[in-house]
Formats: sequence, structure tokens, C-alpha cells
Amino acid sequence: MKNDCIFCAIAAGEIPSFKVYEDDLVLAYLDINPFAKGHTLVIPKGHAANLIEADDATLAELIVRVKKIAAHIKAKLGCDGFNILQNNGEAAGQTVRHIHFHIVPRWSGDPLAFENSKGDMKALEALAAELRM
Ligand code: 5GP
Ligand code: ZN
Repeated sequence: MKNDCIFCAIAAGEIPSFKVYEDDLVLAYLDINPFAKGHTLVIPKGHAANLIEADDATLAELIVRVKKIAAHIKAKLGCDGFNILQNNGEAAGQTVRHIHFHIVPRWSGDPLAFENSKGDMKALEALAAELRM
């Protein structure tokens, strides 16, 4: 666990999250400022800043979880597709320096705007309960 890392603090349960999935290695929770309904972040519990710093074994496990969680979200929400985003470095839009995959549900014809919206905490809580695996 890295001291000043907000996602490490979430993984440790020190900061609450709208949890969708958890196992020994991985935690998935709703983004508090979502691009779209059901926007979920998938992180390894162990700290690594980005794709390059993450170890291969963790990455291999992580992407399989991303697949499983995305399939679950798609089935539950009935979205038509989803984007997987993974930003590395400030220049690429990475704001939290703990590797994470974004799962962004998409509906046919929705506008392609990867912009954060102000999350409604009550709605996120209800949605997390609905999506929890
Ligand atoms: P990045 O731009 O680094 O790829 O994405 C970071 C994401 O983390 C953003 O979409 C932002 O809304 C989200 N985020 C930042 N702080 C928190 C937090 O404390 N809890 C949750 N659930 N999401 C967060
Ligand atoms: Zn961390």
C-alpha cells in the first residue's frame, strides 16, 4: 500500500467505495464522477502506478477480471457495448497514479464524450447494489 494513494486507501477500505466486485487481487467500484451510467473502475489491490510498472502476472489476472465484470455489467444494464480505457501518465489524462481500467457502458447512438459528470451519491449507491457480483 502506498501512503498517499487514494486507490490504495479505497482497496484497504479506509475510503468507502460503491463496490461492484472484490476478490483477493482485485477491486471494482463505480467511478464517482462517471462518463456514463455504470462507469466502473477495476484496480489491483496492490499498488502499481501504471501499465508499465504493474507486474505481468497481476496484469494477466486483472484483464480476465475486467472481462468478467464488463460482461456482468453489460448483462445487468442491457447496454449495447462498452469501452475499456486505461490511461498512463498525465499527458494521457491519468489523474490517479494507481493503475486502473475504466469500463464505460455504451448505448447505440449515445454521444461519444469521455467527460466526467458530477456523480449523484444516492443513485451510485443504488446502482452499486444492483450491479454487485
Ligand atoms: P484517470 O483519469 O486517472 O484514468 O481516471 C481516474 C478516475 O477516478 C476518474 O474518472 C475519477 O472520476 C475517478 N476517481 C477519482 N477519485 C475517486 C474516488 O475517490 N472514488 C472513485 N470511485 N472514483 C474516483
Ligand atoms: Zn495505490
